[in-house]
Amino acid sequence: MDEFALIRRYFAADVVRRDDVVTGIGDDGAVLAAPGPDALVVVADTLVAGVHFPETAPPESIGHKALAVNLSDIAAMGAEPAWATLCLTMPAADESWLEPFAAGFRNLAHHHGVALVGGDSTRGPRTVTVQVIGHVPPSAALRRGGARAGDLVCVSGTLGDAALGLASIQGSTRFDESCRQTLERRLHWPEARVSLGIAMRGIASAAIDISDGLMADLGHIVEAGGHLGAVVDVDELPLSHCYRTVLERVGLAPALAGGDDYELCLAVPAARLDDARHAAREAGAVALTVIGRFVDDFRGIRLEPAGRPFDTPDQRGWRHF
Ligand SMILES: [Mg+2]
Repeated sequence: MDEFALIRRYFAADVVRRDDVVTGIGDDGAVLAAPGPDALVVVADTLVAGVHFPETAPPESIGHKALAVNLSDIAAMGAEPAWATLCLTMPAADESWLEPFAAGFRNLAHHHGVALVGGDSTRGPRTVTVQVIGHVPPSAALRRGGARAGDLVCVSGTLGDAALGLASIQGSTRFDESCRQTLERRLHWPEARVSLGIAMRGIASAAIDISDGLMADLGHIVEAGGHLGAVVDVDELPLSHCYRTVLERVGLAPALAGGDDYELCLAVPAARLDDARHAAREAGAVALTVIGRFVDDFRGIRLEPAGRPFDTPDQRGWRHF
């Protein structure tokens, strides 16, 4: 099958129809109507087989995840996603891989109303690059750099589940069948917190999505804030029921340093916490948990209660993940 037939067959059919797509797939470029007074938010992410996903991962989940990780960045900006491009490198035009891959991508695109407007396909080691363009009122965009001392450190959902899903697949941690499925699903089928990001406009002072682990990503907020530190109370980390079944064995490393959770980490002024919780509920978003506070008497991240040994990223344990 040639490239054009392939695109028509799997990607041009059944794309999300949007009025702002003047010219979509099939021309040299997409023509998109500018979204009124909003500013554009552009994100991109590449997934490489063997690096970001196992070659054996279900193709449908790779199509889903390639889009989801980009939607997560859009969510972290408080933006609304609108359009996507997809660049696909494959060893061969293998229809038994392409069809489920396209379905995974398409289903999530429909769920978020994102139109696929272009892309490219080439032969080579399997690599998926997705770009998503969204929009946000310019002054409402959530940035990494806005946190202030006194703000609360909040996270959405639960932490560490994707890392435990990977540990399950690799056989380093065993779970009962129900938890095995739940955790592997968290790894392969991440949910971007788009409605939560939009709900946090005008409330959160900073935001980031947790793709590389809480310590790393909260670290980015702290760095971007100038002279800023964060105190995290590890007893407050939101852990799932399945995580708790192995907490004694794996410790807190998956929650602190495990990647691929795609929850949001937010700085919320203490006086706005009720507003944040209310807005999250109204948006039908996952719950927010306060795990600490930003301070200005040191830089970096301090874990409390002090003196307790933690599996922090510079200690043994987390490297399993
Ligand atoms: Mg990000």
